[in-house]
Amino acid sequence: MSNYSDPRADTSLKLCEHCDAVFRRIRLDPGERAYCPRCGTELYRNNDRRYGALLPVVLASLIVFICCNAFPIVTMEIQGVSTRTTVWGAVRVLALEDMLSVSTLVFVTTMLMPLVELGLLAYLLVPLWLGRIPAGFGPVVRLIRLGRPWGMIEVFMLGIVASLVKLSAMATVIPGVALWAFGALTVLLAVVVSFDPADLWEHAEAIEAGYPPAAQERP
Ligand SMILES: [Zn+2]
Repeated sequence: MSNYSDPRADTSLKLCEHCDAVFRRIRLDPGERAYCPRCGTELYRNNDRRYGALLPVVLASLIVFICCNAFPIVTMEIQGVSTRTTVWGAVRVLALEDMLSVSTLVFVTTMLMPLVELGLLAYLLVPLWLGRIPAGFGPVVRLIRLGRPWGMIEVFMLGIVASLVKLSAMATVIPGVALWAFGALTVLLAVVVSFDPADLWEHAEAIEAGYPPAAQERP
């Protein structure tokens, strides 16, 4: 077994990022925060309530993501025929029209990275919600943090804007379900990336200690 099987080992001590003092962690009640007594920097907080809200946001994002890609977003002229196509169809046409770099940018920023981040978060959050720790918990948390610079909302927006500008020369954007869904997904992803995946360690620690997060909630 790897050392990831014991999340407590990773979270039992907390280093102050400002003055390097080391503290032993204590359990906080929902909404409470711990501060460094030496320099006043916030050390950690109890995010159980916020994480309770994260799973519905991630699931909503996945549903909206499907809408973004299931409905046509542009009307294009392909071999003399006017065709309505989805983002994936547009990516393929851009690649075929010798715009491989734009095609790759659009694919990675608007399809691949959001799907990877949302999929990995759902993989972690659904079992945690059920009170168990999914296999490969530690590596998946690290993978999400590693991918964050590419899953950032600015990059996502850049991908959408680049695709719409490039496509406007050869296609007409349809102000329909897919375009509205992209707007909604932008807002939802902004909420998702405001969570630090490293805080999930606390969640896993509570489950290992036999305190499922839901049981800690107080009225
Ligand atoms: Zn400090």
